[in-house]
Amino acid sequence: MFTFNDIKNIEKKKAAKLLKGSRDPDKVKRSLIQFYTSLDENMANIVSTYNIPIECRDGCSYCCLLKVDARAHEIFSIADFINSNFTADEISSLKDRLRKSADQIAPLTAQEHLVSNIPCGLLVNDSCSVYALRPSMCRKFHSTSQELCVASFERPADITIPSSEDEDLNIAARAAIMGFEEGLKKSKLDVTIYEINKSLLYALESAEHKQEWRKGKKAFPVDAEAKHSDF
Ligand code: SF4
Repeated sequence: MFTFNDIKNIEKKKAAKLLKGSRDPDKVKRSLIQFYTSLDENMANIVSTYNIPIECRDGCSYCCLLKVDARAHEIFSIADFINSNFTADEISSLKDRLRKSADQIAPLTAQEHLVSNIPCGLLVNDSCSVYALRPSMCRKFHSTSQELCVASFERPADITIPSSEDEDLNIAARAAIMGFEEGLKKSKLDVTIYEINKSLLYALESAEHKQEWRKGKKAFPVDAEAKHSDF
């Protein structure tokens, strides 16, 4: 059984080896896709090896109303996908949803956001509109009990409701995500945690954010940063 540090170091070395200090957006995207594939496969292997009873199903989207965080490389990869695959009308509707959620989130503390059931703007008809490129935190999230997800949705402020995630699977996924990000730091890439709605809106509205990120600077203004919670 791999330890947290084993998993973290494996992903860190893989990312650093692929990038070799580069911040070239195409290289970063290739390493991100490779990481997503590895994360998905490793999580599926753990689920199968330890018979973890996952209850996530198509059309179940309670987790898309939670606080959704993402990193700049993930946001730019989603923005590229949207610009290549969405129609102008779809982009316009998406921006409206992103703006609406971002505006609702802006005045909230992290704790208030956690209990507000505000939908991610990428959610359409209870499905993720960028599923193949959803961020690491969305890929990590899993539920061993739909009953707990429903309870958490209906009573979001009830802190007595236990997590629906499997603890060991959660730890292994977190280790991999942390390792990949440490690999990116070798290229001096921004690994700030951003709020998905506001940061994606910035990425879709101006190319200057990607240019700054490519220089190794912060990708988005401070109002797009995720607020931290004590939970
Ligand atoms: S990015 Fe997709 S999976 Fe993640 S919260 Fe948004 S809609 Fe859900």
